[in-house]
Amino acid sequence: MPGTASAPLPDNSDSPAAQETPGRAAKAAGAAKGGTAGKPSSAMARLHKLGLKRDVDLVLHLPMRYEDETTLLPIADAIGRAGLGLSVQVEGVVTSNEVSFRPRRQLVVKIADDTGELTLRFLNFYGSQTQQMAEGACLRVRGELRGGFFGAEMVHPTVRAVTPGEALPDRLTPVYPSTAGIPQTYLRKAIGGALSRTPLPETLPLPVLQGPLAQLKLRPLPDCLRMLHSPPQEVDEHALIERSHPAWQRIKLDELLAQQLSLKRSQAARRDKSAPPMPRRAGGLLTAFLAALPFKLTGAQQRVVEEIAKDMGAPHPMHRLLQGDVGSGKTIVAALAACQAIDAGYQAALMAPTEILAEQHYRKLSAWLEPLGVKVVWLAGSLKTRAKREAAALVESGEAKLAIGTHALIQDSIRFARLGLSVVDEQHRFGVAQRLALRGKAEPDATGAPTKAGREAKGGETVPHQLMMSATPIPRTLAMTYYADLDVSVIDELPPGRTPVVTRLVNDARRDEVIERVHHAAADGRQVYWVCPLIEESEALQLQTAVETYETLVAALPELKVGLVHGRLPPAEKAAVMEDFTANRLQVLVATTVIEVGVDVPNASLMVIEHAERFGLAQLHQLRGRVGRGSAESVCLLMYQAPLSPTGRERLATMRETTDGFEIARRDLQIRGPGEFLGARQSGEAMLRFADLNTDAWLVDYAQEAAEMMLARFPEAVEAHLLRWLGGREHFLKA
Ligand code: ADP
Ligand code: MG
Repeated sequence: MPGTASAPLPDNSDSPAAQETPGRAAKAAGAAKGGTAGKPSSAMARLHKLGLKRDVDLVLHLPMRYEDETTLLPIADAIGRAGLGLSVQVEGVVTSNEVSFRPRRQLVVKIADDTGELTLRFLNFYGSQTQQMAEGACLRVRGELRGGFFGAEMVHPTVRAVTPGEALPDRLTPVYPSTAGIPQTYLRKAIGGALSRTPLPETLPLPVLQGPLAQLKLRPLPDCLRMLHSPPQEVDEHALIERSHPAWQRIKLDELLAQQLSLKRSQAARRDKSAPPMPRRAGGLLTAFLAALPFKLTGAQQRVVEEIAKDMGAPHPMHRLLQGDVGSGKTIVAALAACQAIDAGYQAALMAPTEILAEQHYRKLSAWLEPLGVKVVWLAGSLKTRAKREAAALVESGEAKLAIGTHALIQDSIRFARLGLSVVDEQHRFGVAQRLALRGKAEPDATGAPTKAGREAKGGETVPHQLMMSATPIPRTLAMTYYADLDVSVIDELPPGRTPVVTRLVNDARRDEVIERVHHAAADGRQVYWVCPLIEESEALQLQTAVETYETLVAALPELKVGLVHGRLPPAEKAAVMEDFTANRLQVLVATTVIEVGVDVPNASLMVIEHAERFGLAQLHQLRGRVGRGSAESVCLLMYQAPLSPTGRERLATMRETTDGFEIARRDLQIRGPGEFLGARQSGEAMLRFADLNTDAWLVDYAQEAAEMMLARFPEAVEAHLLRWLGGREHFLKA
């Protein structure tokens, strides 16, 4: 039991090697096999599945709640509390034990003490249980008492045979997060064993504990762990469950610190890599392009262009996130960065998450750059094999200076001659692995043959400069934790002449009025998006709805040209429809969410979103961002079906109240919590297990300061801390 761990721990024998030895925990757990556990090997495999490989992993597997087995109630008292939904523990001797077959097969056991008798009912049971509960056996029973038809009873209580008078534990019993198949008894023994075996010397150096962390008055980790695994009876159980207990504070700080250390280290590692220095050069493509631009860059664009240009001039890889609300003009910034790379004799790649967006970038950038003599190629999954091969050949020979596409760009068959810059648009839509893959395109390939860029650069690994772009603003606390190793540039100004989009909520019942609005907008020479409802359960159903909406609108608006675009359309047709809409040959575009990101048609001024209550905030913000791109006053109509759920109502109200992407992200975070906000792919294994950024964000500052001090002065402590907390998982943080 965890209680055995309260023996004093030796202080300095915590060799990292011992902690790291895989299989040790599992073996120990096997040795500690509890009565109800299955074969040790399968239980071990399940422990591994839970990520519990080392002793220290077990030790850091913390209870989610507790059971109070420290007190016994006389049966009569327990019966008095029946029906209150309380879990109680009683002890009694079995007076009868029989299998009844009415209304279905079940085991009915009665136990009694001096005060009364209680019925236990088991609908599923093993022969061994019948024996354990034979007449005369003394049982300790825990469960909820119901007022049954024949008197108070417990259905499926937890039962343990005891010797009469056996002492009660003086500590609460932990209940651990588990998967089916790992019984709690097994986990408790495994964890208790690990806790008593694992020396946990302090990883935080005294100057850190007494310096940046002094105010927190942190308790020693072993004390905190013992408290959490095996709390004394009199503990404030609520504080443990709410994770506000001081013991939790230590755990959370340690975890956040590990995250900070890891991120800062990967940042430093990146600085050690080389990248081709591509300083800005006057008189080249960049100059010509700027001169040809039909508009002047905003102050914010100029500032971020400078920041990026400076990074790209350095011999270390840029790792920069360009954040700017929808419509703030990030594409042009990416184009300028590409020009700088091309001027320096390198290639650039631009990857976008959807084919529509990638295609639009391709059209825009080739229109800008091909007149200046730059070869731009297009690479997407939908390309015919031959076209793809041709494009790949141009990329490989170096003739193509700029490659634009979807994740087709990161396929193995695509090799760059001299990739100097990789740009990832709407980066939050990609997984970590995909972003790393694009960066990997300038590293020596799998055959060991270095790319040209690799051969030329001095030093070890060479990677291209990387620019990531996102319209999803990341609230500060998230940025500090998940993106601590990124440099961030922000475009905080929209191009001039934009009028904010007016947002209205419209009950679905008023669809006719909405169609009338569409009519008016088109009569004024404006264009309209009509976004069909998101139907998460079924793509086919979503498609069907889109087709129906399209047909309704065609019938209702005979004088207008209406187009339809959805994910199932062959790419060539999709592109043709988008092209028609861009060129104003279509006035109304009925679309599924394929148009969510990036699409840019400045003449569109009305956005209708059907069943807006089904969309998330970030998605609504992106969709709304498709209008308000020109100088005309734009309107977004959010159609909803009543009644709205509380969160649906909250989301729509947010949309009506603000167009500020940061504010929307902040509320989104509030409504959804950070895990969902970032998306599973984004955060992956890096998710914090214990710290909760909604409540513990204030600890991040402490963790950050402590991390800086440790990295600067205590490298060994850094290693020990990371090993303890992250073990083999560290690479997941190196996004
Ligand atoms: P996003 O940041 O959402 O990717 P885009 O790059 O698509 O935004 O730009 C939105 C629109 O604003 C485009 O039509 C683009 O040509 C235009 N634009 C960008 N910068 C400026 C500027 N400085 N002045 C005027 N229009 C601009
Ligand atoms: Mg964009």
